[in-house]
Amino acid sequence: MRYISTRGQAPALNFEDVLLAGLASDGGLYVPENLPRFTVEEIASWAGLPYHELAFRVMHPFVAGSIPDADFKKILEATYANFAHSSVAPLRQLNGNEWVLELFHGPTLAFKDFALQLLGRLLDYVLAKRGERVVIMGATSGDTGSAAIEGCKACENVDIFIMHPHNRVSEVQRRQMTTILGDNIHNIAIEGNFDDCQEMVKASFADQGFLKGIRLVAVNSINWARIMAQIVYYFHAALQLGGPARSIAFSVPTGNFGDIFAGYLARNMGLPVSQLIVATNRNDILHRFMSGNRYDKDTLHPSLSPSMDIMVSSNFERLLFDLHGRNGAAVAALLDSFKATGKLSVEEDRWTEARRLFDSLAVSDEQTCETIAEVFKTTGEILDPHTAIGVRAARECRRSLDIPMVILGTAHPVKFPEAVEKAEVKATLNLPAHLADLFQRPERCTVLANDLKAVQAFVSQHGNRGKPL
Ligand SMILES: *Cc1c(COP(=O)(O)O)cnc(C)c1O
Repeated sequence: MRYISTRGQAPALNFEDVLLAGLASDGGLYVPENLPRFTVEEIASWAGLPYHELAFRVMHPFVAGSIPDADFKKILEATYANFAHSSVAPLRQLNGNEWVLELFHGPTLAFKDFALQLLGRLLDYVLAKRGERVVIMGATSGDTGSAAIEGCKACENVDIFIMHPHNRVSEVQRRQMTTILGDNIHNIAIEGNFDDCQEMVKASFADQGFLKGIRLVAVNSINWARIMAQIVYYFHAALQLGGPARSIAFSVPTGNFGDIFAGYLARNMGLPVSQLIVATNRNDILHRFMSGNRYDKDTLHPSLSPSMDIMVSSNFERLLFDLHGRNGAAVAALLDSFKATGKLSVEEDRWTEARRLFDSLAVSDEQTCETIAEVFKTTGEILDPHTAIGVRAARECRRSLDIPMVILGTAHPVKFPEAVEKAEVKATLNLPAHLADLFQRPERCTVLANDLKAVQAFVSQHGNRGKPL
């Protein structure tokens, strides 16, 4: 499989290179040159497969030519053996034809484990083959950091540096990162905010001199392998609900548009998806596009669903590429103008095309709490705030009551006790067994000033399993 850039000017890469690449050299994002397409009969024949075997069927066309089938199967089996539920991604019924797909049974209790558990293993496999080491740098306001660290902790050939804003992530989220102790794990608390952390990652990608020739790898959702891994659970959910003989609708709590873009790809690969609902919090740039063709940058509004607090959605460019007939020059022009003006809209017929599949809703903090309370009252289930936004949007935007509606349950409620408390749900939330002693575990973290040079010096002093590069 070859991968091309959404801006049309960067060289095409194979899977191995795309795994190690961040942005394409033209500033675009990599997408498959040709999407595999499965027949209804083929998809139907996968019913009842264990998750890792289904994952192999869905993903092997993407890695073909780079990873031998037998090795890929082994990697997938190890990846999903790590999940605390035998079905890996179980469905839970809320109402008649309404289901939550629980994607929070991985090691860090959020759906990001599906992709990052795989990414760490793929990286280590490819690097061992090449005899290379890499450094990962990432910024996090919560979920991504812990999932990336968990995914990379066993990697022989990776040192990972994750920056979070000092004293500005929740205690559970901080401990999920800082209690993972390994020579190759480096937590940095920056005396600044999340944007400061992200700026330092960007600046480090732009000027890599401090790395002395070691390659820098991105683990944010622009990495193609993350999107790829998320396609699988759309198939998994549909197969359990009578698909592909019948259509399925999905509602997806959305920030950077990675997770829902995977659902869009699943549909283009042959899964009968009738509707995709973009569920956002107050940071609603995607809702403004889907409802009124206005993708206009706004300021950041901190919310009760912090993993969806974004100003722009990095993966939206991948959808724009398809909406423009895969014309890289047109996408580049559109994004250049967005960069200059902070505004973007597309031609009417392209927008209408998107609206055939996508609906959207922006949900306030108040409505999020209302939904948590209501679902608890009627079903006894406690939703995390992100999932609650998905449920709210599913109920308001649903096109057909005959088609099963699946809401992606993106995080375990124990990670977001503040929202659950505000919803006045009177129930105790316990950490699952593998994290029960999280508050007793020793932590390791280095606090650094909001200073690029200091951070880069730290990376180059510790980037080789704690030793200098
Ligand atoms: C990351 C995250 C999201 C948003 O996913 P995107 O792929 O960025 O759209 C939603 N919910 C939770 C809990 C997350 O961690």
